[in-house]
Amino acid sequence: MKVVYLDNNATTKVADEVREAMLPYFSELYGNPSSMHTFGGQVHRKIEVAREEVASLINADPEEIIFTSCGSESDNTAVMSALLSRPDKRHIITTRVEHPAVLNFCKTMARQGYRVTFLPVDKSGRMNIEELRSAITDDTAVVSIMYANNESGVIFPLHDIADIVKSKGVPFHTDAVQAAGKVPLDVKKLPCDMMSVSGHKMHAAKGVAALYIKRGTRFSPYIIGGHQEKGRRAGTENVASIVGFGMACDLAKKHLQTESSTVKELRDRLEDGLFKTCPDPRINGDRVTRLPNTTNISFEYVEGEAILLRLNEFNICASSGSACTSGSLEPSHVLRSMGVPFTAIHGSVRFSLSRYTTKEEIDFVLEKMPPIINELRELSPYGTGSASR
Ligand code: PLP
Repeated sequence: MKVVYLDNNATTKVADEVREAMLPYFSELYGNPSSMHTFGGQVHRKIEVAREEVASLINADPEEIIFTSCGSESDNTAVMSALLSRPDKRHIITTRVEHPAVLNFCKTMARQGYRVTFLPVDKSGRMNIEELRSAITDDTAVVSIMYANNESGVIFPLHDIADIVKSKGVPFHTDAVQAAGKVPLDVKKLPCDMMSVSGHKMHAAKGVAALYIKRGTRFSPYIIGGHQEKGRRAGTENVASIVGFGMACDLAKKHLQTESSTVKELRDRLEDGLFKTCPDPRINGDRVTRLPNTTNISFEYVEGEAILLRLNEFNICASSGSACTSGSLEPSHVLRSMGVPFTAIHGSVRFSLSRYTTKEEIDFVLEKMPPIINELRELSPYGTGSASR
């Protein structure tokens, strides 16, 4: 049975062009890019081409990009670098809805004596930027706020946020792992100091990512060793994946506008269809300012995990914010922070589309979902009648 893959915020299929670009680096082009000989030198040159391609996606200069092993490493590196660069400052600001790569890193820093402000969000997943303004103090070492949320798809008002942070002279990092390739990013217009992006969320391979570090930003490396990445990130480069990542950024840049509108149409078709055919759906998160590929939708009195298992029988892949589905024992911290009722958190499903999603696939999901939801509600101890609600 064909896989209907609607879990693209978890990871994406490697694009054919990306795979093709990577292949020579698993066979004939195996030289070490740091070597003196011409054989290694040609590999080094391809890494520099990839650096230009990644830079171009976010309108950075190539020297402002370092390659890392994953978005989590980019996030950890950014926050740690800011802390190491200003050891006199002991305060971090972030939000309650960050990816664990930032959230848990900040919690670890809190255990080491840093004061961390976790800014709240409202029921639509939006931030109150006045709360950010008043949280910044003379002791603030760094502000790290994501561009777009991986669960709800909600996009934060990054330009306003960055303006406030920079007006107070504080280093600003944004985790743009979910935004890159889905919405236009321009670091010449957005006054951020550091930005994380990750390959496997945009049709490159797993295990490669980048960190943008604005020229002039004080930077302390996280991985220390050899002189790779101009001393900013040690370790022999993951050449094949870096080359593929460059190609993925090139593809994303070329197709960004058309793809995001096509993907959005399909996402809206899915939502509209579910609203017409399933009982009591609710969208979690702001419906307007959101990634074009994401919908997080709850069906109350139904277990999200049960929905996923039933979808799985038809090879339909999605995610849930309920407990245990993603190796966590806790229901989604994002939905909890938004004040989504527990019954709705437990019945939440995230569908995330990509440029490879087709109308036929969406229609297939629309055919399968209503009977699944209706059957599961029949089985629910809360029943289906309004008296039980
Ligand atoms: N940040 C966000 C918003 C994410 O969605 C993810 C992955 O889901 C990460 C960071 C971590 O990226 P990686 O899987 O490349 O470590």
